[in-house]
Amino acid sequence: MKIAILGTGYVGLVTGTCLADCGNEVTCIDKDAGKISGLLQGRLPIYEPGLEELVERNGREGRLRFTTDLAEGLRGSQIVFICVGTPQSETGAADLSTVFAVAEAIAKNAEDSKLVVVKSTVPVGTNAKVFEILSKAKIQHRAASNPEFLKEGAAIDDCTKPDRVVVGVRDQQSTDLLRELYAPFLRTERPFLVMSPESAEMTKYVANAMLATKISFINEMANLCEMTNADINDVRRGIGHDARIGFQFLFPGAGYGGSCFPKDIRAVISMASAKGMDSRILLSVDEVNEAQKLRLGQKITGHYQGILKGKVFAIWGLAFKPRTDDIREAPALVLIHNLLAAGAKCRVHDPEAMENVRAQLGDRIEYLDRPMDAVQGADALVIVTEWQEFRSPDFAKLASNLTDKVIFDGRNLYEPKAPAAFGLTYHSIGRATTQG
Ligand code: NAD
Repeated sequence: MKIAILGTGYVGLVTGTCLADCGNEVTCIDKDAGKISGLLQGRLPIYEPGLEELVERNGREGRLRFTTDLAEGLRGSQIVFICVGTPQSETGAADLSTVFAVAEAIAKNAEDSKLVVVKSTVPVGTNAKVFEILSKAKIQHRAASNPEFLKEGAAIDDCTKPDRVVVGVRDQQSTDLLRELYAPFLRTERPFLVMSPESAEMTKYVANAMLATKISFINEMANLCEMTNADINDVRRGIGHDARIGFQFLFPGAGYGGSCFPKDIRAVISMASAKGMDSRILLSVDEVNEAQKLRLGQKITGHYQGILKGKVFAIWGLAFKPRTDDIREAPALVLIHNLLAAGAKCRVHDPEAMENVRAQLGDRIEYLDRPMDAVQGADALVIVTEWQEFRSPDFAKLASNLTDKVIFDGRNLYEPKAPAAFGLTYHSIGRATTQG
């Protein structure tokens, strides 16, 4: 099939590449000329495990193309995926201006009939508006919704082996075309769920709202554990074996970030409010998360009795989660801003996200290529992202390098006794501090 992808970011590039890898002819379109010229020279704009190799192979074999020219990119395609960003607007609602602008551009430039599929996360009713825009064109187009559930860091697997594919459609022809397109990804009997565009749009938000709720829930319980001498890790194990609860997404931490959860939760709150409804659960989920992003900083301030001026902190992990370079709404940025404001210095390491942070913070902090380099000359270590390489550090080396012999772990990577055995004081989330 011939496919056009409009918006070549995390979702568009991964989707386009995976579809090309099944034998489709895919053209990825983006208005960002720098991004497209980089891709044409084999430079990826994002880090995603396994993606570079797939882009290179499918490009070489002529199935994956990149362009800034919308009319050229649309030519001959049967399906056009809209994968542009839907950031939070000033009111908290999703900003849909780019979605509508590209729908207008498709209506203006398409030379033949298309199935236009909205993959971006959008509030209920957006597909109907896109359909209305397309209906003004001389050529008749169809519109469908196909929300994306991929996770950054595991995006290729999520795209090629999805738990389910959700499509919101108005006609059988669109259903059949999308079923055919997704057939290679659903060979292990994964469900292809057909519903209205409105239900498909809602499904994506409800999924993210549920996941964010689990995170804020466990973070609130972790904070209560700290006050009551209970250990959240034991509690987590104690509840997780209940099949009705399970283990997934119940790890306490430094708060959720990223380009999706924060803005999607606020978009649902705004959708509810537009209907005169208070989304009381999600208002709390957001509030708890904003507070949780401050937790590590509060522990640090508490440890140093409010005097951070001149202290040097090694920070491991900047991305909002491991296996990505995405720093949008990352808890590490909140922490760094607060430490700098208090007069402290930061020596940071992240395997993939340092360039993105450098673009924002420049030389206000120091960037180190290896985790142990960041620790050299630091007073304390703070762990914000659970990259695999931070899980088994040389505690003896940490103890000899950290002047104040203290670790603040926002991801509970270690058994509390392990660092303490080397004389390190260890603060984590929802567990008692162990003294070195
Ligand atoms: P992104 O910011 O990485 O990519 C969006 C791309 O669209 C950018 O490259 C931008 O240059 C391009 N663009 C903007 N205006 C354009 C125009 N007029 N014409 C052509 N290209 C244009 O965003 P993303 O993270 O890929 O997210 C896209 C959508 O998918 C959002 O609605 C998001 O909520 C949703 N989503 C994201 C994820 C994720 O993990 N990132 C997962 C599921 C769903």
